[in-house]
Amino acid sequence: MNTEIVTIEEKNIDDLAKENLQRAGNIIRNGGLVAFPTETVYGLGGDALQPESSRKIYAAKGRPSDNPLIVHVADMESVSEIVTAVPDEAQKLADAFWPGPLTMIMNKNDRVPYETTGGLDTVAIRMPNNRIALELIKRSGGFIAAPSANTSGRPSPTLARYCVEDLMGKIEMIIDGGQVGIGLESTIVDLTGERPMILRPGYITVEMLRDVLGAVDIDRTIIAPDSGVRPKAPGMKYRHYAPKGVLTIVEGPSDKVAEYINTKALEAADQGKRVGVIGTESTKELYRADVVKSVGDRNDENTIAHELFKVLREFDDENIEVMFSESFDDSGIGQAIMNRLLKAAGHCVIRL
Ligand code: AMP
Ligand code: MG
Repeated sequence: MNTEIVTIEEKNIDDLAKENLQRAGNIIRNGGLVAFPTETVYGLGGDALQPESSRKIYAAKGRPSDNPLIVHVADMESVSEIVTAVPDEAQKLADAFWPGPLTMIMNKNDRVPYETTGGLDTVAIRMPNNRIALELIKRSGGFIAAPSANTSGRPSPTLARYCVEDLMGKIEMIIDGGQVGIGLESTIVDLTGERPMILRPGYITVEMLRDVLGAVDIDRTIIAPDSGVRPKAPGMKYRHYAPKGVLTIVEGPSDKVAEYINTKALEAADQGKRVGVIGTESTKELYRADVVKSVGDRNDENTIAHELFKVLREFDDENIEVMFSESFDDSGIGQAIMNRLLKAAGHCVIRL
């Protein structure tokens, strides 16, 4: 298949951009697939109401078909068209955070095919805060099923070039809208149980949700991932990212962390291995390894969310075999950062 790449600037949706968005919308209406930017990561979009489109998404990503897709909408009316009822909490959260990086799980109605929900009677819905995404949704019939636009098992793409790497030749179009703003996938909150429950941490933190709703639970598999309990979001049981190299997270005072990593890096280098270190702006000078990258500034953890997946991809591109990363605070956006990093490391953590 020939994959067309078009560039659109979110801040300047001119006539040419509108024309391209119209063509992209038609591709999706006709059952094809388009990768597009959102504020979280790039999405791989198909018509959420066509079973065949969802099947194509799973095939293009190599994703297990029991891992449900998130349906992206551009307005609240669309939500009521695909659920049995809009819970009060959903309205409150939408008022507070939509468009934005929050996905809500509700009970689906018959319009949503089981292919899209991985066989579940519930559906995950989000309104993205990105003009390109919103304009595309409107032109494609109103309901775009979109998981992250990467091959299953690779880090989510935060730049169009990673969609090209993973999906070239497999889908009809890639819309390049530059590097995304947030860099981590949306927070997922389940509204179908007795109490709202976070199934995946993201930019919208538990504190922010509690401010709006009061009591909010957290799926314990997010906090204690090795407990052997099955996560409530089917996708969370998969190791999101299996790096080519072995990643270890090292936690402790920064001088001790640097000393430990430098010793281990030297040992690995002696065995002829290529070693990489994920440091931060204030610590990167402390490390000795083949490749040392700063993932951002500890004083502004949003910068770390923004760069994390990109840095992980860069280590793969540089054929790094042994990787070490610093650890981050588990509060605020840090909970989402650590959730993704721990998955990438297969939960291998050294505490000093
Ligand atoms: P991705 O699209 O790659 O960001 O992954 C979507 C995530 O949402 C996966 O972890 C899914 O398991 C989760 N998800 C989607 N729909 C549902 C649902 N109906 N119930 C629970 N989790 C869901
Ligand atoms: Mg994904």
